[in-house]
Amino acid sequence: MSTTSTTTPLQEARDRIDDIDRRFVELLAERYAVVDDICELKDEEGDSIKDHDREAELLDHVAAVAEEKGLSPDLVRRLFGEILSHSVERQQERRQGEPDDADASEDVPEASPVDAPVPTNGHGRPAPASTADALSRPDDGDTDRSYPEVARNGTTERTVVQVGSVDIGGEDPVLLAGPCSVESRDQILRAAEAVAAAGGHLLRGGCFKPRTSPYSFQGLGAEGLDLLAEAGERFGLPVITEVLAPGDVAAVAARADVLQIGARNMQNFPLLKAVGRAERPVMLKRGMMATIDEWLAAAEYVVGHGNPNVFLCERGIRTFESATRYTLDLSSVPVVQERTHLPVVVDPSHAAGERRWVPALVRAALGAGAHGVMVEAHPNPDDALSDGPQSLSLDTLAEIGRLFSPETTHVDLSADR
Ligand code: PEP
Ligand code: MN
Repeated sequence: MSTTSTTTPLQEARDRIDDIDRRFVELLAERYAVVDDICELKDEEGDSIKDHDREAELLDHVAAVAEEKGLSPDLVRRLFGEILSHSVERQQERRQGEPDDADASEDVPEASPVDAPVPTNGHGRPAPASTADALSRPDDGDTDRSYPEVARNGTTERTVVQVGSVDIGGEDPVLLAGPCSVESRDQILRAAEAVAAAGGHLLRGGCFKPRTSPYSFQGLGAEGLDLLAEAGERFGLPVITEVLAPGDVAAVAARADVLQIGARNMQNFPLLKAVGRAERPVMLKRGMMATIDEWLAAAEYVVGHGNPNVFLCERGIRTFESATRYTLDLSSVPVVQERTHLPVVVDPSHAAGERRWVPALVRAALGAGAHGVMVEAHPNPDDALSDGPQSLSLDTLAEIGRLFSPETTHVDLSADR
């Protein structure tokens, strides 16, 4: 009896998928070959590897094609975000392999915790002779707590992160403000107008939201990024927004001036590496369960992967206290300033969880010597889609703005009480 192999319709469909996937990978390989050609051309011209405008153009282009074909533009943006991120990594690895960079890599501390450190920290600081030398306190033999690139190294030199014309970590404290989430064009424009009028320096607004419940508002995604960028441009404010996934870094960096790493992602190492490769300043929030040393080691990932423009944000930690949403650990401000050259700002909104406590904590943060403060403010706090209870009214934001003006002698912060 002879056996005939019958191909079922399901098997046939799977064969077709296998064929498409093979062609997909072949196209990707072809794309990488072109990336190598581009890298060579950039080397000849001495051009930098990253070009956020070009990346924005490319992502817009593929998103438009996706829309034309009835696919989700967000999905296609994310897929291409990953591809772009790997292309940059590949180009950086090629450059590091070249003789010029090999010389510079003599500066790399041997025991760096970062698995692919770049040659210098970009600040021309003398590199530490060893990890132990790099620590600003005695070596306790725990290499997980070492952060040679971000440690003070006993110098008085400090990093100033420049965002447009705003200096974070300079002489004057900065005010970062805006709604927890970008909700609509009208909402973000009204918030931006108030932030500018209050003398705020940066506009914040979440587009990709890390919500505890999957049923809570997750943010407007790419659409929110466009609205935030529009509002920032309209009122002359650089913008900061959170990036949640490595695949989103290219899209967010194309629209935002500062990339925020949220508390829940402080130790998301692939994400830290991805923003380390971006050419945008990064604000790294302290994890709610993280020690100061773990926070600084997380910053080391970003700096060690090529991005020296990092500032820290204390946003409260979990303690036994339940009266406030978190406990604002203001003692971290002087401790961090002793241990690292990176600037540190404070976010009292997420720590307090209640708007009426925020003004006092803003004063306290400035008193502790923070380089700035980030607060949440909303045109209608009670209707906010996220973090309404802790969001300031725009009137109180205006009063808080006065704390940042050198002419201020008295500020009435009672409006939200
Ligand atoms: C935020 O800034 O909106 C936010 C989600 O903050 P955190 O990561 O500190 O909770
Ligand atoms: Mn929030």
